[in-house]
This record gives sequence, structure tokens and C-alpha cells, in this order.
Amino acid sequence: MHAANVSPEEIARFDKLASRWWDPDGESRPLHDLNPVRLGYVAARMDLRGARVADVGCGGGLLSEALARQGAYVTGIDLGEKVIQIAKLHLHESALQVDYRLQSSAELAAAEAGAFDAVCCMELIEHVPDPVALVADLAAMVKPGGRVFMSTLNRTPAAFGAAILGAEYVMRMLPRGTHHYAQFLKPSELGRLLRQAGLELEDVSGLGYNPITRKAWIGRMTAVNYLLSARKPA
Ligand code: SAH
Repeated sequence: MHAANVSPEEIARFDKLASRWWDPDGESRPLHDLNPVRLGYVAARMDLRGARVADVGCGGGLLSEALARQGAYVTGIDLGEKVIQIAKLHLHESALQVDYRLQSSAELAAAEAGAFDAVCCMELIEHVPDPVALVADLAAMVKPGGRVFMSTLNRTPAAFGAAILGAEYVMRMLPRGTHHYAQFLKPSELGRLLRQAGLELEDVSGLGYNPITRKAWIGRMTAVNYLLSARKPA
């Protein structure tokens, strides 16, 4: 076993936000606003009813719950103790079932190799020290013929302007230091990591977001945030 692919400062940063995770007007506000669009992207590409889905880096469980509401059997993992606790607590409010675990992607990949019809990993890869290892874990979890869905920030001046200057400094929507520009991946780079892990890239779409109107949409503009779908050959 190698050292866990995790940065403790990153975990601490998100754990601090845990108690307000489900507040649509708190720091997780962009995630709340993006959530229906991300769910729509996944649901358009697979039948969620009865599917086993892993949500890696699930945070307080916004996407995990949305997937469970569509009838998926969701396993949500995160290394933030507080965020996982909040995710579990919120199930009392939503009356949904999600299997939340304080577990690393490597542990889940080892315990349940090839077990999932789909693996979602949204807004996580830009926070891990070793993106190659993360992608390998995602590829190991998914069944042959299953899909891996990811979203992350592009490494462009536009993303720097929107996600760092705009959100952290001008609008102060996110705490400063939430994002590190050098860790952002271009779609071509992430596409290469996916291929190296044996996955076939099916689609890359832009994830548009207007923080003033709080509208989110899928489009062609991948310069800031993007979503992708990859498939493990059957
Ligand atoms: N995927 C969720 C949350 C994104 S925020 C969503 O899009 O709604 C990023 C999450 O990744 C946080 O909950 C943080 O605790 C978690 N995280 C950061 N580094 C991690 C790592 N190395 N392994 C697992 N989770 C990690």
C-alpha cells in the first residue's frame, strides 16, 4: 500500500464548511446550483434505477442524494470526517438511503473492484495530490461497460478568473485558498489520464454557471468548468 492520495489541508478546508453544506446560500452554493445539471448529465447517459453508483469525494452528499432519489444504490465516500457525518445526518431529513463511508478511493477500489455500474467524481480531482492514482482507482471500481463521470476546472485564464479571482476574491463566495490553479487539468490532459487507465472518453461538455442569476447549464464552453463521461470497455 502506498501513502494515501490525500492532502490534509484540503480535507480540513472542506470539513470547516461541513455544517453549512446543505445551506443553498452557504459556501456550497455553487455546488447546489450545479447539482441538477450534473444529475441530468449522468441520467441522460445511463439508467439510474437500480444501478450501483459510487460517488467519490461526495462531500455532504448533494449528488449522492440526487442519484439515490432517481433510484440508484449509492455508495458515497470522502475522507472528511465532518462532511461524511453531515452527509449521514442529512439522510434523516431526506429519508433516502445512501451508504456513506469514510474511505479513500484506493480502499473502495480494492474492496469493490468492478462493482459499480457508474462512478461519479465531481469537483475532486483538482484537490488530490496524485490525479493519476485517483483516475486509476475510479477505473478499477467501475464494471466493464460502466461509466465514469467527472467534473472539474480547466486550467485556463478564464477558469482562474472565474473560480479563483471571481469566486474567492471578488464575490467571496468561496473561502480563499479553495482552489490551486496549478492543479487544474485541461480536458486533453484528463482525457489522457482516462485513456491510460483503460477508459474511453465519450463526451466532454462545458458546465456553464452564472453566479449572479445562479443558473447552470451544459454547453460547449469548457474553458471554466467541464463535465465528462468515459466508458470502460465491455
Ligand atoms: N463531489 C462533491 C463535493 C466536492 S468538494 C460535489 O461535487 O458536490 C470536494 C470534496 O472532496 C470535499 O468533500 C473533500 O472533503 C473531498 N476530498 C478532498 N480531497 C480528497 C481525497 N484525497 N480523497 C477523498 N475525498 C477528498
